[in-house]
Amino acid sequence: MNSESAYNLEQRQTWEMIAQLLQGQQGESLSLEIAGLIKPYLDFRKELAQFQESKFKDFCTAACFDDNTSACCSREGIVTFFADALVNAVASTPKQIQTLLNALDKPREDGRCVYLSDTGCLWQIPPVVCALFVCDRLEREVLAPNSDWRKTWQAFAEKRKSFTWPDRPVLFDSLEKLFIEKGFDSPLMYLNKSPGLLKIKAKAGLL
Ligand code: SF4
Ligand code: SF4
Repeated sequence: MNSESAYNLEQRQTWEMIAQLLQGQQGESLSLEIAGLIKPYLDFRKELAQFQESKFKDFCTAACFDDNTSACCSREGIVTFFADALVNAVASTPKQIQTLLNALDKPREDGRCVYLSDTGCLWQIPPVVCALFVCDRLEREVLAPNSDWRKTWQAFAEKRKSFTWPDRPVLFDSLEKLFIEKGFDSPLMYLNKSPGLLKIKAKAGLL
């Protein structure tokens, strides 16, 4: 099995496991519980998206999308956390999830992200690592000359940690635990599996 198919398999297992629980007997109450937990995170993502739309969009269109040379989405095997998938699943229709599964069936030949389609990313709420990505050129030509924008961007990066970085209780960990307590498991539950992240949790007294 090559590494790409191993990646696709892990992704598929996670989507199917989440769908199984959300569409099962407890699905409705569980979806409501998750919706309550993730509301502040969705607000953050909305604010982030609005900033990108207003400050980056024109630059990105001229720099990359006009001639289809974007460095965004150009890597296969993008890191996705279990919580990324869960948030996206709650925001998606079953048909939209099926579209992701269909994409995973067709490993790409061009080395780009398996979730990249002709119309852009197939996720409704892309993984947080994608949402906070800026290339060197954008950093240099857009953020560096504008200190206010750069400060705002740094504030977004800090805020992201308050949801994802387990040196304190964070949403991404809570969402993993919610499913672990129900007997589910995913290789994408990095906040409960990655030795490095477990070390950070231990140091913060969270284990
Ligand atoms: S962030 Fe950089 S690589 Fe990505 S679309 Fe914008 S200019 Fe292109
Ligand atoms: S998940 Fe979406 S945003 Fe992230 S690299 Fe893949 S296509 Fe791009």
